[in-house]
Order: sequence, then structure tokens, then C-alpha cells
Amino acid sequence: MPVKFTHHASRVTNTMSKASIFAILLSLLTACSPGTKVTRAPESYVVVLSMDGFRWDYPDRYYTPNLDKMARTGVKAASLQPSYPTKTFPNHYSIATGLYPDHHGIVQNSFYDPKLDRVFRMGVRSAVEDSIFWEGEAIWETAEMQGVKTASYFWVGSESNETYRPGFRKFYEDGFSYVQQIDTVMHWLSLPITQRPRLVMFYFNEPDGVGHNSGPESQETKKVVEELDQLVGMISARLKGVEKKEKIRINFIIVSDHGMGFIPEGNQVFLDEVIDLKRVRRINGGNPVFILEPDSGYLEEAYRLLSTTRHIRVWEKGKLPDHYHYGTHQRIPALIVEADSAWGVEIRRRAKGEGIKIEYTRGTHGYDPVNKDMHGIFYATGPVFKQGFIQPTFENVAIYGLLARILGINPTKTDGNFMTINGVLKGY
Ligand code: AMP
Ligand code: ZN
Ligand code: ZN
Repeated sequence: MPVKFTHHASRVTNTMSKASIFAILLSLLTACSPGTKVTRAPESYVVVLSMDGFRWDYPDRYYTPNLDKMARTGVKAASLQPSYPTKTFPNHYSIATGLYPDHHGIVQNSFYDPKLDRVFRMGVRSAVEDSIFWEGEAIWETAEMQGVKTASYFWVGSESNETYRPGFRKFYEDGFSYVQQIDTVMHWLSLPITQRPRLVMFYFNEPDGVGHNSGPESQETKKVVEELDQLVGMISARLKGVEKKEKIRINFIIVSDHGMGFIPEGNQVFLDEVIDLKRVRRINGGNPVFILEPDSGYLEEAYRLLSTTRHIRVWEKGKLPDHYHYGTHQRIPALIVEADSAWGVEIRRRAKGEGIKIEYTRGTHGYDPVNKDMHGIFYATGPVFKQGFIQPTFENVAIYGLLARILGINPTKTDGNFMTINGVLKGY
């Protein structure tokens, strides 16, 4: 049975006078004053937090009492399977749209669009804010089109100049205070009911950074993960405070965009040692997955060289394994190169006056979504969720449909299957 959210007004019977209907509607529109008997419509609220690069098994390795409590009082997924490539921009937008990157157009953190003759890079504001790059329909668009207010604090894709965009939004800043973000989220949820967003999505950029620098299994990563868990405790407590004060119930979901894989030192392939990059027109992406367009006369040779090199694999566009769901979008060029699990692929850069600088990072992501190292997390608590329920691993493209269901809005067609995840809701 689907969870139903009955709006108070729909229960008003014909026998009531116009004046009393008007009084009820007015009291729903304005905050209830003390002594008012009318209870507010049981509207659903959803807060979604993404913690970048939070690998599925960090709570098993490190001390995370607050996430563990969410699992006990709500839902925890065995793991959350990302979409390909398992990078930040493609995946946050897959969560928002329910589409694979091949279908929403953010095919990498950086890419070239041959029709527009423009390059997209996550650090270039003029690209990130241009709706031309963001295809598909994000959950905030679906919601806003149907009159449901939304807010985003740094969610990838929400900065674009679409017609239907979050009514409240903050543009990305590196190193911004998480506590300040939490303050703003609580403020949004405490606004008068006529202004208050029903969907709030926000984003923390760790533990991705520390996972890259120190690897998933390190004292540094442990420290950051445990600090983030403390923040989860703070958010849960403050949401409870808002629920009490505003007399509302809030659903709280935590996800991550992907996990983090460890690369032992020395496990690196340098692309510039394999192919002649001067004969490659375009190359985008980053360790461990690059998308490239060799000069037309060099395509076959480049493919041969790459395919005979150990510890990397190469595919021609359209020939990737089916479960990658990747290879039809016009922004994907002729070749896709990916390192083997636990291996890195880099382009050596010549640092000015320093000779060859070999980059080595202890952790990365971008590999096959089935590779368990790439899996993220999904936790959820609140009135619509079961308690103590373990959800089997599912694909992140299903989350859009879940959010639409909780908000009571009509979803658009997506790649996700709500049925893979409906068991998390009470009544299913
Ligand atoms: P990556 O690990 O390369 O897939 O990307 C992670 C990085 O993306 C984070 O460290 C952030 O700095 C960056 N990032 C996340 N959201 C945004 C955004 N909305 N705009 C620009 N950069 C972002
Ligand atoms: Zn990420
Ligand atoms: Zn990362």
C-alpha cells in the first residue's frame, strides 16, 4: 500500500459553511497562533544530505554512533550503487534526476560538447550555471513546477539558471563551514509555512578530500569520518528541535555520491607514456577514467596502444559493458580509458622548473559502479520510513522516485525503478 498524505482541506465536508472552510484555509496558510484548535495539514518534509565520497563501509571501520542510530531508528542500505563514471558531478545529478549520466548529460566532471563547441568544467562558474549543460529534470524542478518549495545548499546542478530552480539556494564555495550550512538549513525549515521549503538538499565536500589524500583506510580519514558523524548527530538533534517547535515531522536522508578505492604506491599508468597526447584532440576526466578523442588518423593506433597496455582498459564508444549504461550521449568521445581496480591512470605534468612531477594520490573513484569500493551510503529516518530496516544495495537513480513519492508529486520518467527501494517505506 502506498503511503498517503491526506491534505486537511480534502477532508473538509460539504456540510461545512463557506465561512468555516475559509477559517480553516486561513489557519493553514498562516502559522497557528496559540490556542488555535486546527491542526496543520500533515505535509511531508524531506531533508537530504550528501557527504562526498563517504564509502559504504566507513561505519563498519570507524566509530559512527550517530549513523548507527539512524540505522536503528530508520533505514540503512547495505550500500548505494553509484552511476558511471563514479565521479562527483555525474552522480549528484543522477541522484537529483534519476537518470544515468549518459542520459542527463553530465558525462564527467569535465567534458566537451561538440554541438555547442563548449567545454564544461566543474570549477568554471559560467558552465556550472548554464542550464544548457543540465539535461533531464531534477527533483527540485519537478517539485517547483508542482508548487512544492525547495532549497539547495551546494547540490550539484542546482546552480543552473533553469526556469524552475530551488527557491532558496547557495552557490558552491570550497571550505565553507558545515555548521553555518546546518544553521541555514534549520532556518529554512523554520520559516513561516507559506515560505518554508518542503525539500532541502545540502552537500558536504568531505570525506572525499581526505579519502583522496590519505586513502580510505587511514587515521586521517578515520578522524574526518568521525567528525562528520558528530555533525550527523547535531543535524538529527536540531531537526528534532524544529519538529517540536514547528509541529511538523521531517524525513532525513543521508547519501553519498560514490565511495573511495585505495591505490598502492607505484600502481600507476601514465597515459603520456602510452599514447602521443599531441595527437589527441580532446581529453577530459581524471584518474582513474579519461574520455578522449584522438585525431581521426590516430584513432586506431591509439586504441591498439591502449588496449595492449597492462592495468588499464579501453573501450570504443558504444562498446562498454551494459551495466555501465554509458556510451550514447554526444558528449562522450571516441574512447574511454579506465584503470583497473586499485590502479591509477594519470597524465604526467611538467611542473615549471621542477622536472617531472609525478602525481600520486592514495585514493580515488571513477571505476565500475559494480566495484564495491565505489559504493556509497544511504540512511533514512522519519515518519515515512520503517524502523531498523536494512535495504539491499540499490542504484542511486532510484532516489528521485523515492523523493517524489514522499513529497506527493508526480515524477517524470527516469532510469530508476522505485520498486527497487519501496520497501524502505512504511506500508510496503
Ligand atoms: P571529484 O572528487 O573530483 O569527483 O570532485 C569532488 C570535488 O567537487 C569536491 O572536492 C568539491 O570541491 C567539488 N564540488 C562539489 N560540488 C561543487 C559545485 N557545486 N561546484 C564546484 N565544485 C564542486
Ligand atoms: Zn564525489
Ligand atoms: Zn573525489
